[in-house]
Parts: sequence; structure tokens; C-alpha cells
Amino acid sequence: MATPSSSDNLMETLVSLCKRRGIIYASSEIYGGLNGFFDYGPLGSELKRNIRNAWWQDMVHRRDDIVGLESSIIMHPKVWEASGHVAGFSDPLVDCKVSKQRYRADQLFFAAVVVEGVVAGYVSALESERTTEELQESAETFKRKKALQGTLAPVVVKEFTEATPEEIAQIPSPATGNPDLTPPRSFNMMFQTNVGAMTDASSVAYLRPETAQGMFVDFKNVLDTGRVKLPFGIAQVGKSFRNEITPRNFIFRSREFEQMEMEYFIMPDADWLACHESWLTWCQDWLKSIGLPESHLSLHEHPKEKLAFYSRRTVDIMFKYPFGVQELWGIAARSDYDLQQHQKFSGVPQTWFDETTKAKVVPHVIEPAVGVDRILLAVLCAAYAEEDVKDEKGNVEKRTVLRLHPRIAPFKVAVLPLLKNKEQLVGRAKDLYTKLKRRYNVAYDDGGNIGKRYRRQDEAGTPWCVTIDFDTIEKPGDTFTLRDRDTMQQTRVTEAELFAMLNEKVDNA
Ligand code: ATP
Repeated sequence: MATPSSSDNLMETLVSLCKRRGIIYASSEIYGGLNGFFDYGPLGSELKRNIRNAWWQDMVHRRDDIVGLESSIIMHPKVWEASGHVAGFSDPLVDCKVSKQRYRADQLFFAAVVVEGVVAGYVSALESERTTEELQESAETFKRKKALQGTLAPVVVKEFTEATPEEIAQIPSPATGNPDLTPPRSFNMMFQTNVGAMTDASSVAYLRPETAQGMFVDFKNVLDTGRVKLPFGIAQVGKSFRNEITPRNFIFRSREFEQMEMEYFIMPDADWLACHESWLTWCQDWLKSIGLPESHLSLHEHPKEKLAFYSRRTVDIMFKYPFGVQELWGIAARSDYDLQQHQKFSGVPQTWFDETTKAKVVPHVIEPAVGVDRILLAVLCAAYAEEDVKDEKGNVEKRTVLRLHPRIAPFKVAVLPLLKNKEQLVGRAKDLYTKLKRRYNVAYDDGGNIGKRYRRQDEAGTPWCVTIDFDTIEKPGDTFTLRDRDTMQQTRVTEAELFAMLNEKVDNA
């Protein structure tokens, strides 16, 4: 795991590594960037594609009960009325009237400063790992500055959504330190657009805030044409858009992101709890299979009173990011809410004919929903390491390494001719490179000394380097030096052995 001294440092280090190595850039950077939008560079787009492909392979190709779907991003606006998003997909927004900063009321906290049992004022803090400590420290500062005598009570932390009008009139804005905050109001997070040449109420449409509705709206189509029978799932990977009030923590919360969602349709009387449990296990195992350490994963069960009204149970798989333990993957038992709603709004039955009971039923749904960008960030956090190593002359130097799982690493192998001006070495290297490229994304690097080239590949997360050296061309056996990223051990392998290893560790992982 990473070594920079603090979690802030790790995020800063990662953001700069991402920029330097072409993993992630701010969107439209030459115009100053656009808050909440990002671009994936040459290495990042490969990493993201590999995560997406691994999920698709395991979720769809390697199973018999799940089929794929690619629905449109802009759907009929009625979809979002039926799903409840038009009325209810909102976050509580708070404005600072002076600084014009905006906050999510559920991410803004406050506490009364209570001295000798009397409320002397209020302090506020944004959500972080240290919210309580920050509020306590601010309360102490408040007491000192006002020269208040007596005992300060430990702070009782409250969400801004719970503040009374009297409290709102006294709670300081985090931006100005003065009571400049508005009461919370609902802010719908869907991006609106207009379809067609007219821009009136009849042309309003939305960029989808989740991919899930595509699976519900196409449920009948898939049922009628997909040769499927209950229980079965429909999976989709694609962009979603949310006008987040406070995009933050790099790609963790952005306004345009990518989701991988699957709706698993089951009989209304099926053991939904067991099904939910088995998807929870599947998702955790999958995250571990692409290299996330178990020690960084945990579960958060949504308390009954905080469940969405249609949900019977929601459990989030949490990841320990440098900025705190946060939701990575939500697994919800959504009952038959969505299909019932679409049946009601469209007038088209959303039913499955059960041969045994000869009855038509509206299936229930278990939904694992995860963000690709959040997985990618978790993968980078877990893979990043800095180590002291010795170079060929015995000098200690720092090596930065991304210990990415071979299945998702952008390059699987780097081919390195020992010297770039020796025709025989280059010829053999190019030949191997061409063969490998037909199956894998492979790097070719002939610049600088071999140690430097290893370091470059370590930082890009390339699991293996293959060096074509004099032994390759002068000794029998046509072997190369295979250097392992993690152990830095070097062994000699033939071309056939190299392909067999990649087959085992990449294709069959
Ligand atoms: P949060 O509470 O963090 O806003 P959510 O519970 O609203 O997330 P869901 O609607 O369950 O999220 O979406 C499913 C998954 O999509 C999340 O678990 C997360 O991985 C991803 N996701 C949601 N919102 C964002 C975002 N703004 N940026 C990146 N990924 C996101």
C-alpha cells in the first residue's frame, strides 16, 4: 500500500501521477477545466476499459443467466416521471449568500457551543474524516475568542438538514465565518436538455442520472427476444450524469461518470434475501479478484428508516479511500417498484408468465450498481507504492510502482531491446512485440538505460518487462529476460513460456 505520509499527500501524489503519466486530466484543461468533469488519457482509458471489460466478462460472458444491453442516454421524459426522478432525485442545497459557495446540507455539519449549560453560539464544518474533531476545536476557539468562562460541553454534531430556523440564523458559513447560510432547498440533480428544434416545455428531456432505467424500460423487449427465463439479469455499462452540488475528491464524485449496473429479475415469492446476500458476496469477491485488498473493504447496511421507500434492503460495499471510508458499490433489493411504475405510466404490462402457476407476475429486482470511476480510483489508491531500491551500482533510489492486477493493467508487457542501435536485438524485439500486440496491449521502449525503462513501466503498472539481450541472440534457446514488476526478479523465458504465462495470469485470471 502507499507510503506518502498523510492521506492528503496520497491524493495529491495520485492526482499528479495521473496527470504526469496520462491517466486522468481535468476536462477542457486549456480553458481552465470544468468542475466535476474529467478526461482519461492514454493509460487511463486503457485501465478504465480493462475494468469495464473484466466486469462485462464476469457478469455477462461467463454466466448463463445474464444478458447485456446498451440503452440510449436520453430517454423519453416519462421514464423519469415514472421512476420518481423528476419529483425526487434531489439533494438539499444550501447557499452562502455572501461567498456564493454552495453546500450539500447533508454534508454540512454544525454544533452548538455550550458553556456551563448555556448555548453561546454555533460552529460549522464540512463532512470529512475529522468533522467531530474540527467542530470541537472550533468550539474551543470560539470560547477562547469570546473569553467565556466555565466548562465547554463536548460538541453534539448535527447535520445542517436538522437545523431549526433559529439555528440557521446563527450557524456560521464555512466560507465567511458569519451566519450567511440559507435554509436548505431541494435541488434536482438531473441535467436538462431539449430535444428537437423547439425549446419549450414539450421538448424537455434529461441526460440519464442512472443506467438502471434502461433495463426496466427494455425488460419486455429482452423477455420477448432474449431467450431468457426467470431468474435472469440485464447488465449495462454506460455514462450517467448528475449535476452534483459539490463534486469532489477527484473522480470520486463527478458530474459525468460511468456506471456498471445489473438488474436481476426474480419471482415475487423468491427468497429475495438469499439472492441479495449472494450478490453481495459476488460483488465483494469480484473487487478482490481485480486486486482490491480485503482490509480496505467493508459493508454499510442502510438503516431501515433511511431506506429509499421502494427498497427492502440496501447494503453498500465501502472502500477505505485516503479521504475516508466511502460508498463504492450499492446492492439494493428494489422490490417490483420500477416495473410497477412503468406498467402504470406506460399502460404496457411488465409481466412474466409463470408456466407452473399459469399466472402473470411482475418480477422483483436485486440491483448491484457501481461506478467505474470509483473502482478505478480505489484501484489506483490500493496499487500505489513508493519503495527504496538499489540500482545496479548499489545506490539507493526511490521507485514508484503501481501494483495493478495484470488483468486490468494498461500494458500487460513492455518489450525492451537492450540497445537500440543493434539491428539483431531490435529485429527480435520488434518481432516479439508484433506477435504480442495481436493479443495484448504492449509497450515498446528503447529509450534510456534499462533501469530507467523498468522504472517507467513500474510507474505505469506494467506487470512484466521482457528484455531482448545478447543472450537472446547469441545463445541457443532464444530466451529473453523476464522482469517481474512486484518482485523485481529476473528469469529467462522462451516465447512460448511467455505466452503461456500471460494466458494464465491475464486471460484466465
Ligand atoms: P452517493 O451517495 O455517493 O451520492 P448514490 O448512493 O447516490 O451515491 P447510486 O445512485 O446508488 O449512488 O449509484 C450507484 C453507484 O454509482 C455508486 O455506488 C457509485 O459507485 C456511482 N456513483 C454515483 N454517483 C456518482 C458520482 N457523482 N460520481 C461517480 N460515481 C458515482
